[in-house]
Amino acid sequence: MKIIETVAAMRAFVNEQRDAGKTIGFVPTMGALHQGHQSLLRKAAERCDVVIASVFVNPLQFGANEDLSSYPRDIGGDAEKAAAAGAAAIFHPQVSEMYPHGYASHVDVWGITDKLCGKSRVGHFRGVATVVAKLFNIVQPDVAFFGQKDAQQVLVLRRMVEDLNMTVEIAMAPIVREADGLAMSSRNVYLQPAERKAATVLSRSLSIAQDAFARGERNAAALKSLIQAAISTEELAEIDYVEVHSYPDLAEVDTIKSAALAAVAVRFGGTRLIDNTLLEGERTCI
Ligand code: AMP
Repeated sequence: MKIIETVAAMRAFVNEQRDAGKTIGFVPTMGALHQGHQSLLRKAAERCDVVIASVFVNPLQFGANEDLSSYPRDIGGDAEKAAAAGAAAIFHPQVSEMYPHGYASHVDVWGITDKLCGKSRVGHFRGVATVVAKLFNIVQPDVAFFGQKDAQQVLVLRRMVEDLNMTVEIAMAPIVREADGLAMSSRNVYLQPAERKAATVLSRSLSIAQDAFARGERNAAALKSLIQAAISTEELAEIDYVEVHSYPDLAEVDTIKSAALAAVAVRFGGTRLIDNTLLEGERTCI
């Protein structure tokens, strides 16, 4: 498996694959890979001839007081895990390769970015859309794979792809969880033991909402209250947001007509974790 650090070398690799008639599956990540990332790579390998991952901690998507400098980095471990899951190459550029001196362009997706994580992390999705647009131009994938863990991100990127006439398909894969329900995240390593234990309340609270939805509860405020009440039983949990919005448009609704996204962001100590569940009759994931 190759680790490729420059745009020129990445383009050369992609051109070789295209000339050989191969389809390209792409999994963008910030590294510190875990089984969630590996599940995306495996799904990419099932659908595409060649799988490319990117490992790039994108400064543009971090706010001023966020964890850019402490974000876990382990390219050696990432290379092993990506290869084991079927990747042929990792694109691992330096910040100066992606944003050279004089860099001045951004991608702004409006509307869908002003709620949930976009509201608590102002500028975050601008950074995400910008880097992903660049990565799509560099890697030119047929299909790009993202996790439902960042469900709003998937919706923002689908909007971007449609609006900017990009040809890549955005596939969404289910959330991979630890045995006790905690959604896997590169940020889980920050959690102290008591916080790690407390963090299981997130998936429990979403299961309570899922059960109520299955029993016929369609009132968004009632579902939101159930989730808030469950999370509030944990002393170490400090709620950033709990929302139940219609899906996929993420509109505020009183009564859920078809599908909804129940999404939470909660701090445990200094660590902000997110989780969500889709309240729907049918599967939306691959
Ligand atoms: P990140 O490295 O956190 O930016 O994540 C890279 C990709 O992996 C994104 O599409 C995430 O949604 C996805 N991802 C992260 N954690 C999980 C998880 N637990 N299950 C499934 N996908 C995940």
